Amino acid sequence: MTDTVLAGGMVFTPDGPREADVRVADGVITEVERSAAGRGARVIDVSGMYVLPGAIDVHVHSRDPGFPDKEDFGTLTSAAAAGGVTTVIDMPNTVPAVDAAGVLEAKAALAHAKARVDFGLWALIRSSSTPEQLAGLAAAGATGFKAYLGYAYSRSRKQVLYSVDLGNQDLEAPPDYGTLARLAPVIAELGLPLAIHAEDPGILKTFRRPYETYADVLAGQPPEAEAVAISAAAAVARQHGIHLHIAHLSSAAGLFAAEEALAVGTAMTLETCPQFLWLTEDDYVRLGTWMKMNPPVRTLGDRSALRDGLRRGAIGIVATDHAPHTDAEKGRDLEHAPPGSPGVQTLYLSSLELARDLGDVWMAPRWVCEAPAALAGLTESKGRIAAGFDADVVVVDPARSTTFGPRMMRSRQRHGALNGLKSSFAIDSVYVRGIPVFSGGRIGSRVTGRMVRPSRAVRAAT
Ligand SMILES: [Zn+2]
Repeated sequence: MTDTVLAGGMVFTPDGPREADVRVADGVITEVERSAAGRGARVIDVSGMYVLPGAIDVHVHSRDPGFPDKEDFGTLTSAAAAGGVTTVIDMPNTVPAVDAAGVLEAKAALAHAKARVDFGLWALIRSSSTPEQLAGLAAAGATGFKAYLGYAYSRSRKQVLYSVDLGNQDLEAPPDYGTLARLAPVIAELGLPLAIHAEDPGILKTFRRPYETYADVLAGQPPEAEAVAISAAAAVARQHGIHLHIAHLSSAAGLFAAEEALAVGTAMTLETCPQFLWLTEDDYVRLGTWMKMNPPVRTLGDRSALRDGLRRGAIGIVATDHAPHTDAEKGRDLEHAPPGSPGVQTLYLSSLELARDLGDVWMAPRWVCEAPAALAGLTESKGRIAAGFDADVVVVDPARSTTFGPRMMRSRQRHGALNGLKSSFAIDSVYVRGIPVFSGGRIGSRVTGRMVRPSRAVRAAT
């Protein structure tokens, strides 16, 4: 097979950006040098372009299996490909929920048949989860474990539900801090991260009210709910030496709680999302329920704190919490519209724009490639443009801008919370292990996605 060379671009290497040619053979980067072109290779001229590692979105909801009218692995990964996301790590609240090895294996097979980019799978922690189930999930290749504090489990529907109605015999109680403490020694042994949805159920229960205005949302899900959950889970993580990952950090109070825990040596990564970095409560007038999500978009002060945390490196990861619903569902009133927005396609371009605003465009690949690769146990294969790494490459045109809106979106849900945002960049072409998955505005025809497994788990098992 002839080598391919992406020639003349500005390449983001682990040591920073420099002009170089990137040579690819058999899906792997073999050389990053000024003179890599011209030796019996097919040369693609990318001069004037940025050549970046493919993004790894560690927080997406494929809805597959379970809710094909919202999304499936085919539409999810088409949106990912068009946005320069070459690996997605899917959350376990599909149906049946991914709480055992057999469910994870079946989901992997289904994703294999449809995915256009590589994928990993998070596993679910239930209040009834056993050490054997967790070991089985790790052996089956789970990226890590996710606990939804405050979310119950429907035994008949095999589904994670947000419900506090525990009089209902069908519902298993949500995992709580006790569940985390009970399972932490097992998680430590398996060497995988524990991710949490950090909203303290006790605080939510006290303040929850009918959502008539956006002020009700902010009062019903106060920032201390996030801060308390982070502090409590961090105490458990520190006690047992596990790696804690905070999903979708949304508040200054949550960031403060996390930094306190980090200061005393807790192994923890923080993830925030473009919606929290770009929007504030004031955008509700413009966006309505398109921006309803859990946790909620908050105040200008929260947004400023999160931007600052990202710039300082306290927050390492930007992921999307890509969570599509149908138009009909999102068209309900504020109380009844389900929370979530599609986002995977706009991750890279919004991150480049924010990094540019904060003074260094080259911060973006660290947020969406390098730090996510470390969380997902993929530091040996993904997240970098370097010899020996998978040829997951995104060519970005810095001379062409993109305005986000329904017409460009490949997700089944075309209205996102970032509708209307303009990025000073455009995705030119995208490769997954050297295979073109997006170019000239078109999604590649091949179903190329493969499951990724964390190398940490491999080491733990051998
Ligand atoms: Zn989520």
